[in-house]
Amino acid sequence: MNSAGSVTVLELGDLTLPALWLRDACGCDQCRHPGTGQRLVGSARVARLFPDTAVTRHEVADGRLTVVFAPDGHRSTFDLDWLARNAPGRAARTADQSERGRVLWTSTDLPAGPPRVAWDAYLRSPVAMATALGAVSALGVAILTEVPARPGMVLTVARTFGFVRETNYGALFDVRIEPNPTHLAYTGAELAPHTDNPYRDPVPTVQLLHCLRTAGEGGDSVLVDGFAAASRLRDVDPAAFETLTRVWLPFRYDGPMTILTARAPLITLDDEGAVTQVRWNDRALQPPDVGPDRMAEVYRALAAFAAVLEAPDLAVSPRLAPGDCLIFDNTRVLHGRTAFQPDPAGGGRHLQGGYVDMDGLRGTLDLLRRDGGGARLVPTAPPPSGVPVARTARAAAPAVAR
Ligand SMILES: [Zn+2]
Repeated sequence: MNSAGSVTVLELGDLTLPALWLRDACGCDQCRHPGTGQRLVGSARVARLFPDTAVTRHEVADGRLTVVFAPDGHRSTFDLDWLARNAPGRAARTADQSERGRVLWTSTDLPAGPPRVAWDAYLRSPVAMATALGAVSALGVAILTEVPARPGMVLTVARTFGFVRETNYGALFDVRIEPNPTHLAYTGAELAPHTDNPYRDPVPTVQLLHCLRTAGEGGDSVLVDGFAAASRLRDVDPAAFETLTRVWLPFRYDGPMTILTARAPLITLDDEGAVTQVRWNDRALQPPDVGPDRMAEVYRALAAFAAVLEAPDLAVSPRLAPGDCLIFDNTRVLHGRTAFQPDPAGGGRHLQGGYVDMDGLRGTLDLLRRDGGGARLVPTAPPPSGVPVARTARAAAPAVAR
């Protein structure tokens, strides 16, 4: 096919290709740096320089589309396969972190609890690693089993896919009964399902909890898919859902040496109304500081969401064994535990936790998927623990190939 004729929207088979978008998507050496793949001419510059651009000529040959643009005669070539996947209206939204495209779950969907991958396989096999990280991305949760039950190993796990986020609780924190607790987590009290640190800005996105010792009785983990809960609230009480997406509420932590405050909605939506984040933490949420006229509405919405979150069919309750490392999306999955007693013989339930940023997890997963099973996992510089850290070896290639 070879055709001339100036169009601002090129119709090609079942593809609708606006000229402005094609020009913006050009991957030639003038438009993208050939070495880094980074853009030399960005969308805003295209919009300012060529607002009325048109395709004056196009040609399809050998699975590629070549177009020539007015007014400057710039020429671009596109892979037709790439266009079929990425044309406007077809592409999966890049970096979509919303409920769209995730797998929402209730207890019946995970009868055996979260997906489990053995630590040894995870370290040796890119496929096993992608399985575990893919579960955290899609379901919001996975468990690595048989991670050596040694203090500090939670940081070794964290460093396999990201960088440890240090907070006032330290690079890692010990969850066990302490004589003078600064936090309810450091007692044997039941903790209702919650997301961690809603008073932080930004909140920690990936959380790890590594089990070193279990309690004799109790101390079971409780997990709830916050996206599934928000989705149910939207179905059963749309007004309450709407309120919790619109009203920003105050969160606060007052510690001996630390004060942390943030304002945020309990349910965050993206530009198409899809849920992207849930914050739920009864201990950190402060009395609403909205006007008196909205107070009843806000309390009613809080009660409605609390009722949904307590529905027994939403909760999954895995009992962590020593060596299990729970990895979950703290912007989505609520976690809690049943009550437990201190062990009179000493010891007793002991977890170590830590935080990592979600971009590290998703980026590692994207690398594993792009490089497939052929990705070579190699040790980088040894972390303090001396245990090798798996990283994919290949350098980043340009983001688009066409
Ligand atoms: Zn170009």
